[in-house]
Formats: sequence, structure tokens, C-alpha cells
Amino acid sequence: MYVEAEYGKMAGVAAKRVCSRKSPELCATPFCRNKHAAQKRFCNTCRKRRYRENNPIKYLYDNLRTHARERGKGFEITFEEFQKFCAETKYHELKGRDPDSMTIDRRDPSGPYSYDNIRPLDHYSNSIRQDNPDLSVPSPEPFDKNEPF
Ligand SMILES: [Zn+2]
Repeated sequence: MYVEAEYGKMAGVAAKRVCSRKSPELCATPFCRNKHAAQKRFCNTCRKRRYRENNPIKYLYDNLRTHARERGKGFEITFEEFQKFCAETKYHELKGRDPDSMTIDRRDPSGPYSYDNIRPLDHYSNSIRQDNPDLSVPSPEPFDKNEPF
């Protein structure tokens, strides 16, 4: 903090120069003021963000598992199966476009999160379904198989 303020006062010191002279205790992300985690270059916030950017499907998988555990639901889908699920449904792409628009629905609400029991569902259909458990919601339109995953 003190060191950065001192550099800031120096006339003619380019912003980049200040940045490269950040305190070695600080996260390596430009302009991030958090201290980095022990033995790491980045703070926990930046590490989480970078992980999410570099491993979007793993991030969704981890979130789904956490969510399932929090709600006491069975979680029987492997990461490999989840990758397959994403490849088939483009769930991760739809989710990425509008993070709140897609959820994962269980076909049988009393069953676990498993490869055979999950499907992507938009929020609107999901809320209708919760009010009317017997309502059958049509499966999403098939995606263009020629599109590269
Ligand atoms: Zn950071």
C-alpha cells in the first residue's frame, strides 16, 4: 500500500512501471490489490476466476456437485459423463451466454443427478415444472451436430 502510493506520486512514472513494481506480496493480476495466496502468484479470487475461465465445464460440474450436496440430492454423474452431457446439449454454451438462463433439471425429481436423469432446462420451464410436477416439458430442440464442440 505504502510502496504503491509512493510510486504513484513520482512524476513521469508510467502506469505500467508502477504495475510491474507492485509489492511482491500482491496478486500478479494487474490492478488486483489482494495479497496472493501462500506459494501462489495470484490471490484466491483471481485464481478462482482463472480456473473458471480455463476450465468452464469443470467449474460447472463442481458447482452442480456442491449444489446437489447442499440440497441433499444424490450425485452420481462423473465428470466424463458431464462433459458428454455438455457436448450433447451445449448446456455450458447456453449457460455461458446468460448465466441465469439455464439450469439442470432432473427428469425424475426424486432421482439423483445422474447422466440418465439430467437435462438442461431454462428457468422459465423449470419454475413451471416445480408448480406442476406432472407436467411433461418437451425436450430442447436438437442441436446442429455439425457445429464443432
Ligand atoms: Zn488477485
